Amino acid sequence: MALWTDFKREKILVDGRWLDAGSGAVVDVSNPATGERLGSIPNAGRAETKAAIEAAHAAFPAWSARTAAERAELLRALAAAITENKDALAELLTREQGKPLAEAKGEVGASAAYILWFAEEARRVYGDVIPSPWADRRILVTKEPVGVVAAITPWNFPSSMLARKIGPALAAGCTVVAKPATQTPYSALAWGVLAEKVGIPAGVINIVTGSASQIGEELTSNPLVRKLTFTGSTSVGKVLIKQCADTVKKVSMELGGNAPFLVFDDADLDRAVEGAMAAKFRNAGQTCVCTNRFYVQSGIYDAFIERLSAATAKLRVGDGLEDGTVQGPLIDDKAVAKVEELVADARDRGGRVTTGGGRHSLGQSFFEPTVIADATPEMKLAREEIFGPVAPVFRFEHEDQVIAAANATEYGLACYFYTKDLGRAFRVSERLKYGIVGINEGLVTTEVAPFGGVKESGFGSEGSKYGIQDYVDTKYVCVGGLGL
Ligand code: ADP
Repeated sequence: MALWTDFKREKILVDGRWLDAGSGAVVDVSNPATGERLGSIPNAGRAETKAAIEAAHAAFPAWSARTAAERAELLRALAAAITENKDALAELLTREQGKPLAEAKGEVGASAAYILWFAEEARRVYGDVIPSPWADRRILVTKEPVGVVAAITPWNFPSSMLARKIGPALAAGCTVVAKPATQTPYSALAWGVLAEKVGIPAGVINIVTGSASQIGEELTSNPLVRKLTFTGSTSVGKVLIKQCADTVKKVSMELGGNAPFLVFDDADLDRAVEGAMAAKFRNAGQTCVCTNRFYVQSGIYDAFIERLSAATAKLRVGDGLEDGTVQGPLIDDKAVAKVEELVADARDRGGRVTTGGGRHSLGQSFFEPTVIADATPEMKLAREEIFGPVAPVFRFEHEDQVIAAANATEYGLACYFYTKDLGRAFRVSERLKYGIVGINEGLVTTEVAPFGGVKESGFGSEGSKYGIQDYVDTKYVCVGGLGL
């Protein structure tokens, strides 16, 4: 049986070769639960990234010329290899990222599901034949892979965020240069190990680690890269969109969120609390679809606070590798400092902490699962992404009022609401300016549905039948002179 160490590569992958940075410089990677050094990764920059792009460019003609069925077969083998090594990959993920092992296994399972989904979609990249306005001409529309794809991914889902970029890219016939987050590089480098294992040709997947700004500059300015897919913060996303302008790349962006979670008086309270726990505390609140703001109607406000606080107080915090842990550490001390600041600001502005409220006695970057009642729009956490285990709960009276409050943000990724009234379900869903809506559900992500935001949460869909469209160009072919 494979061990997590079998997947830990302390090198970058360029054209099928595992290399150090040209300068030999490295960056240390540590386990956020223990502070223990896990290893290092090359501190690569522009030169290594350029080499990776050229390798991807060289691999593109042969890879895109394979039939969709051949590419699908390799992707299926990749999905099977992930599943076969799920435990080892999950342990690696927990060690570098901190999430509980059960969640890490869930993420690795989701990675396999995304790859398998796109293996299936590879054969369904259909074009069109359009009725021609000319008697002697025919109009065809074909879809072609865009070429070299640059993929930049964050630390909160280091495995599955890359799966939903590598999957559609390879399925469409594109080749990839990936840049994972420096805090969690090993789950991404493991994709290189797995790709090699199943026989994906050299150069089809390249992975570089190191200086985000230098690697980013090369990926965005090199004309050989035809698409950038990014998951991360809105601020970095804006920089990357600007940088891509000069070479007019196709761009897709999965950026920040500020998810509202609305509970109406007529909601099933047990179900709402259960959904609230999942939508708030998964990955210690460090997901872009995690609830940032709970809005609860006055009739059930006190009952909701009581139940949410009781459930939150029961969450077992600890090292993700320990049995029974449901909340691991935050990614680093900077993340804790930000959450501390938001909680302090909420307290200053009249917020009532009903459970938690500070750093956890375990030390490191552990933070107590926290609920703050009497939240108000003046608090910073009403506007800023918390990205931590803190649940502010606002009170509301009317539907119109809560819809306006929920939409009063530049973000538009996920939102959730609970009601038993069918008319309200449609009405509210249609008025919420978000890319993803959970009605009476707190966890909605799946490979078969489109994941993506509106407004400053980005554009493009990942997963589903739509996910592959960002990786293909549409070509119009006019066939004339048919003399019919
Ligand atoms: P977070 O706040 O979640 O760390 P970031 O947007 O900072 O989100 O990071 C997401 C990914 O973007 C990471 O892989 C990070 O290294 C990368 N990144 C950060 N800054 C830049 C940049 N200037 N250019 C390219 N990539 C960047």
